[in-house]
Amino acid sequence: MCGADDLGIHYLDGRRDYLRCPRCRLIHVPAHQHLSPAAERAEYDRHRNDVHDPGYRRFLGRILPPLRARRPPPAQGLDFGCGPGPALVALLREAGYAMAAYDPFYAPDARLLARDYDFITATEVVEHLARPGETLGRLWGCLRPGGVLAIMTQRAREAWRFPTWHYVRDPTHVAFFSADTFRWLARRWGARLSFPGADLAFLEKPR
Ligand SMILES: [Zn+2]
Repeated sequence: MCGADDLGIHYLDGRRDYLRCPRCRLIHVPAHQHLSPAAERAEYDRHRNDVHDPGYRRFLGRILPPLRARRPPPAQGLDFGCGPGPALVALLREAGYAMAAYDPFYAPDARLLARDYDFITATEVVEHLARPGETLGRLWGCLRPGGVLAIMTQRAREAWRFPTWHYVRDPTHVAFFSADTFRWLARRWGARLSFPGADLAFLEKPR
């Protein structure tokens, strides 16, 4: 993410390598071991989440209270990586937000990344990013002063937990953030960082 090239081996499972950066602490699978875009898309097509599934809506809805506390409706948001059934977009519209939805596979309207927003949500997205530093930097640039980047991703914890962590076994997961990785990002951007949940990280832009 930070562009350092002195990466250390964090874990090898015989299928993929997991390299850890000593600076930003991101654990990343090297690019040559990523799925092809077609194979990646096929994985997402197989695992479509149902917009109307109450369990899934509850899962995503955990982002709403901390978001509302920071940026109450009406505010303009972008859901980045909304997937084939934009459940979170529906939920946030119901809550009174004006929402746009972008997805590199299912809603690839690049014009949406040239606008600015009061907040951007990325739920279960950053772990799929081949170039997280570049993509997150671009999103950060789309936020207005006081804007919030609301990220939902499971965080890497102690090294001994890594080999049995289910998150690692998803072949579309290539970037594993820890709390330290978010702290590094916050320092780099001069952002205010909070962790409103075990898998939530919010970065707020200074006004
Ligand atoms: Zn790094």
